Amino acid sequence: PDTVRLLSSAQVITSVGNVVKELLENSVDAGATSLDIKMENYGLDRIEVRDNGLGIQACDTAVMAVRHYTSKISCHDDLERLDTYGFRGEALGSICAVAEVSITTKTVGEDISTQYSLDVTGKVVLQKPSHLGQGTTVTVLKLFKNLPVRRQYYTNAKKCKEELKKVQDLLMAYAIVKPDLRLTLAHNKVVMWQKTRAADLRGALLATLGSGVVAHLLPCQHLQEQPQISLDGFFPKPGADYLSTSSSSHDKTFIFINNRPVQQKDIMKLLRQSYTAQYPSESNRNRYPVLVLQITLPPSSIDVNLTPDKTQVLLHNKEAVLVALEALLVSLYGFRSP
Ligand code: ADP
Ligand code: MG
Repeated sequence: PDTVRLLSSAQVITSVGNVVKELLENSVDAGATSLDIKMENYGLDRIEVRDNGLGIQACDTAVMAVRHYTSKISCHDDLERLDTYGFRGEALGSICAVAEVSITTKTVGEDISTQYSLDVTGKVVLQKPSHLGQGTTVTVLKLFKNLPVRRQYYTNAKKCKEELKKVQDLLMAYAIVKPDLRLTLAHNKVVMWQKTRAADLRGALLATLGSGVVAHLLPCQHLQEQPQISLDGFFPKPGADYLSTSSSSHDKTFIFINNRPVQQKDIMKLLRQSYTAQYPSESNRNRYPVLVLQITLPPSSIDVNLTPDKTQVLLHNKEAVLVALEALLVSLYGFRSP
């Protein structure tokens, strides 16, 4: 059973970025508006995520990290109206299988916080009073200590830097989609990135991309019924051709489906085509525009259960989404896909 647990957990928790993503999503699900993320040695020695969310009820703490426990859905129908990032109860249990985890939490009704140390199966093995305020702090030590090959991967300095960049890109995406979230990221005790609270999407963009970029973006919207699709976001103003990210990188093309940052090949392709159609020079061929696209669909028309990290989303009506996006691109730029 130990080996099975390790192998299946290693599939859910594939990287440092993955751990940060799961912990961050749990904090947002718990209503947090403030998040402090600290990493040491690129997250291999320590990842700590502190939030000011609701905390974990004392009655749930015994099972919180046991695999497949979730407080977020109680019946299958809940999946059809999902409004949380998590629902499978897999993250905490899986992290416990590949690292040393402790969780400190306090709900509003409690006077002091409690720190829980968890074993490889996610069971609480030690509990003691602690001094932290309202919310939850998850500490992950010695990530992949029992997966030498994966740990080996991170001995390469270049790989480590890439992973850190991925974490920053990830935080940027959540910073945009959750305007009222305050975020900090520290690596080896140095603050690398921070974002203050904002009132709306535009404010969030100012706080993450800066006013220089936002000045060249245009708010836009497209609503469609039958099937119900709502698109909104900020696109480059026609003529803002320098607003592209470096060649073949799409790290500033933010696409969200029902608030989830996603990688959607067909949507990316259409956006890139519209960009290169406007600026057909050779050097623009593989560029992606800086933009934010939020796609909102009825929860029942998407399936986020495709991959453990939920960044691939299966759309029941992908064609309709592409048609709606094209309509938006036509109205903005007069662009029609070839
Ligand atoms: P899921 O998010 O799919 O429910 P997880 O393994 O990520 O599964 O988390 C298990 C449970 O632990 C959650 O359902 C939630 O009840 C609790 N939990 C985890 N992190 C937090 C947090 N930061 N604040 C409050 N509750 C949390
Ligand atoms: Mg979760």
